[in-house]
Amino acid sequence: MNEVSLKKALSSLNIGGLRYFDSIGSTNDEALAWAASGAADFSLVIADEQTRGRGRLNRKWFTPPGSALAASLILRPNPAIHARPSRVVGLAALALAETCRTFNLNPRIKWPNDILVNGKKIAGILVETVWSGAEIDSLVIGMGINIYKASVPPADLLQFPASSLEDEINTLPPREEILRRVFENFVHWRAKIGADEFISAWENLLAFRGEQVQIHSAAETISGKLLGLDLDGSLRLLGENRQPAVIHFGDVSLRPSA
Ligand code: ADP
Repeated sequence: MNEVSLKKALSSLNIGGLRYFDSIGSTNDEALAWAASGAADFSLVIADEQTRGRGRLNRKWFTPPGSALAASLILRPNPAIHARPSRVVGLAALALAETCRTFNLNPRIKWPNDILVNGKKIAGILVETVWSGAEIDSLVIGMGINIYKASVPPADLLQFPASSLEDEINTLPPREEILRRVFENFVHWRAKIGADEFISAWENLLAFRGEQVQIHSAAETISGKLLGLDLDGSLRLLGENRQPAVIHFGDVSLRPSA
């Protein structure tokens, strides 16, 4: 993978710009700086290796060289996204899940930001915002996808089982081709982000739907049956006392109940 092969693979998409790195600290950090200095909509930062890849709460995201995809997309919000910016994590999740489907896999979205295949984490999303006063200037959508087996972190680093596309399917196309599929799906769903169909497509892919789950945050743990999504992408649960509960985005982690 290099800048030339990426530009060729992505040539049918209307990308705003591309910065490719053999190795970088974090593609999201580079994209945040580029967004703040005026990057065009749909500019991409792509790296072969991240040495300081980040998950939420500054947890580490593992991206060893030659094995994974690390890409950050800069989105300049249109009115539909300004109206519902919290749907953007769902946009990335749908794009990644539908890409897995093109390999005949049966992906699930572990709300809010992880893609599971056969119950194992195969990709993760980190959305960060560049503010201009109280307005959103741009959104940076980081995506890490485990392609080859070497991208899967050692088990002792994991709080949740992980896998790679290579572990789940027989023949893999080049990484550039996988990325092209991700961004094509992204463009498809971006056009529908304001529609009810968007929420139902996202909801239909949720992991643990109808099952008992626990939502952990620094302050508390909430248990309940996972029902679905609100219009802004918040998670709807039915609590133990049969009271409905709505979980908003934030630094919460979802786990199936033991
Ligand atoms: P959560 O599972 O709580 O939603 P995050 O979405 O913040 O966690 O993801 C960060 C976590 O993902 C890390 O703490 C680590 O356990 C795990 N992780 C890091 N790199 C990878 C990877 N390449 N594949 C799968 N899981 C990873």
